[in-house]
Amino acid sequence: MKTMKAVVFDGVNKIAIREVPKPVPGAGEAVIRITATTICGTDVHIVRGEYPVRHGLTLGHEPVGVIDDLGPGLHGEYTVGQRVIVGAITPCGQCFYCLNANHSQCHGGAGGWRFGNTINGAWAQYLLVPDARANLAPIPDALRDEEVLLCPDIFSTGLAGAESGHIRVGDAVAVFAQGPIGLCATVGARLKGAALIIGVDTIAERLEIASRFGANVTLNPNEVDIVEAIKGLTEGRGVDVAIEALGRQETFENALRVIRPGGILSSLGVYSGKLLAPYDALYAGLGDQRIVTTLCPGGKERMRRLMSMIENRRVDLSTLITHRFALDDIEEAYDLFSHQSDGVLKVALFPDRAAAGASQRPTAEVVAGHACMV
Ligand SMILES: [Zn+2]
Ligand SMILES: [Zn+2]
Repeated sequence: MKTMKAVVFDGVNKIAIREVPKPVPGAGEAVIRITATTICGTDVHIVRGEYPVRHGLTLGHEPVGVIDDLGPGLHGEYTVGQRVIVGAITPCGQCFYCLNANHSQCHGGAGGWRFGNTINGAWAQYLLVPDARANLAPIPDALRDEEVLLCPDIFSTGLAGAESGHIRVGDAVAVFAQGPIGLCATVGARLKGAALIIGVDTIAERLEIASRFGANVTLNPNEVDIVEAIKGLTEGRGVDVAIEALGRQETFENALRVIRPGGILSSLGVYSGKLLAPYDALYAGLGDQRIVTTLCPGGKERMRRLMSMIENRRVDLSTLITHRFALDDIEEAYDLFSHQSDGVLKVALFPDRAAAGASQRPTAEVVAGHACMV
């Protein structure tokens, strides 16, 4: 039996590098050799024990790689050696939910999210991809691995916040939290044609990046009454669409309070516990507001569209990748990301240590074996 290195959930607040069996593809499945992956805020929830997964599961749901092995039924359609990405969400394309266009809910209840949740994920040398025909998305030759690394999850998720909010040309939009997903939602609001985009965060550096990504106004809730300030910018009405990209009661409630009557709260956050919608913010249930939630859209067609936006230079997310590590240095990478140290936005992880060094940009400096943007 061949083995490989994988980073597994080893109990609350513990991850471990283990030697595990290399997967073998069954019918309709593929194995890809991971060339780059990253850490998501959701992984931090998992490691902290706030979202339960089984002990020993390989974590990670953002794969970039090369096809290593194809199960029966895929030859002719894909070739070994082909560069591909796979969405964080891997819909089967055939179940009740998929055929009702709720791909992320494949087989029910957020069931489209399988990597690093219900099946082994991408923090490994190799990854078994289920329903490969629906999920392997070839990378255009012109794009480097790192340029497409954010497509599997945060670009898809953030953009979906704007899409689910049905933003129209000329809308006023507020985006609560300007972490990686909120920044992608800000990009999404711009792409959808919003006129006024208000970026909200408590960290000044993130607000600066929000301006570069399309926010015309940035607000820090520690400095202003956020509801009053947003109403002041919208003739007292409130915004047409608010996007919540943090997953906290406070930001959810503020997002609800700043939408105008008839407005939309588009929620991307992952919540725990109870979420309250105060009656006054909800106009006692008579405000014609809509609250919509969205789980990252996946599948190869979604991935193709996102990569097309990057290839055609409509979107450049490269500044979001602030740090690079070899997968072997995952503990250090996780520590940095989970504590939000050193201005980190996203870290790129490379199973091949040489790639971690090779992909650094000219302005990066090599520190203790990994490349680190300064
Ligand atoms: Zn994620
Ligand atoms: Zn399905």
